[in-house]
Amino acid sequence: MVFSKLDAAIYPFINLASQIVKELEENLGINVILSPGSEVLKRSIERIKEAIYSRVTSVYRADLDVEILSHPVAMLLLKSIKDTRLLHIYAEAEKNRVFLNLLSEDYEKLLALAIDGFNWHVIRENYTFFIRFDDYLKASINIIDSHWKLVNRKLVNGYVELSRRDFSRLMAEAYKTRVLEKASQEEVIQIPEHIKGIVEELNKEVQGVLPKVDVRITHISGEFNPLAFPPCILRLLEDADKGKNLPHMARFTLATFLISIGKRPEELLDIFRKMPDYDERKTLYHLRHVAGEIGSRTKYIPPSCATLRTFNLCSPDDDLCSKVKHPLIYYSKKLRTIKRG
Ligand code: SF4
Repeated sequence: MVFSKLDAAIYPFINLASQIVKELEENLGINVILSPGSEVLKRSIERIKEAIYSRVTSVYRADLDVEILSHPVAMLLLKSIKDTRLLHIYAEAEKNRVFLNLLSEDYEKLLALAIDGFNWHVIRENYTFFIRFDDYLKASINIIDSHWKLVNRKLVNGYVELSRRDFSRLMAEAYKTRVLEKASQEEVIQIPEHIKGIVEELNKEVQGVLPKVDVRITHISGEFNPLAFPPCILRLLEDADKGKNLPHMARFTLATFLISIGKRPEELLDIFRKMPDYDERKTLYHLRHVAGEIGSRTKYIPPSCATLRTFNLCSPDDDLCSKVKHPLIYYSKKLRTIKRG
């Protein structure tokens, strides 16, 4: 399949994207690309900010060259900022964007993207994909949900059977892993003198934004009042109590929300206990991970309302929902309303 420039802009993991980046770098030169007023630099900063504020990056279609170059430049900026939390936020937002776009592609295109982008061994049979088990294992390694464990998958002659949606998700996960791997590669970064100020400014904003959320969390920490829970969290708690097999994003939201308002990982085990794939040791490990007690030591916060909407996890049923952009802000505001009586 021949990919278009728009494909390269939407899917930075395909070969055409690297090829275009190389050509543009050769034609324009790095000094022009990174010059203070350059559109590429502006879009790169915007892309990072979209990740921070919306947890999903958009596709700037007005100038595809700018969009294609903005990803490697954003990576350059992120590497110079050196904030692991920010890198993970960016990688996750990029994954979300790719996943949402893949959902609207046809079968043939999905197959072509996977082969071109990741060299996967894949076969398509009507409405089903089959991926060789070693490619599957590598791509699904960071997915917590037991739905993705190889033992829970149908294996046919060494190939794992996947629905169209799961195939898209796997590709988005593989892209996220690639972004993180690239970001962690040791290399000396030469940031031209004239954009150091821009990097510092961006860094200042980022550092100002991330702790701001933590301050709110600290502020509401210890005040546990289910009456102030946002509708999305109440619905997830209800589903968990019914023993429904919640998807990864739902579990992540529930865990990070409750940990953010002061619950300890151990205290949350009962909530997840009724789920069909419950495993106490694994569940505690993942809860301690999102609480920042182990692993990268990053304390995760719940996704924003915009992200929850894209995952169909938003279920607003009162006015307050229309005034907030984050479930924790909802909780904080509702607590205050309850206290005022
Ligand atoms: S608007 Fe936000 S707080 Fe309200 S239900 Fe949706 S995700 Fe939850």
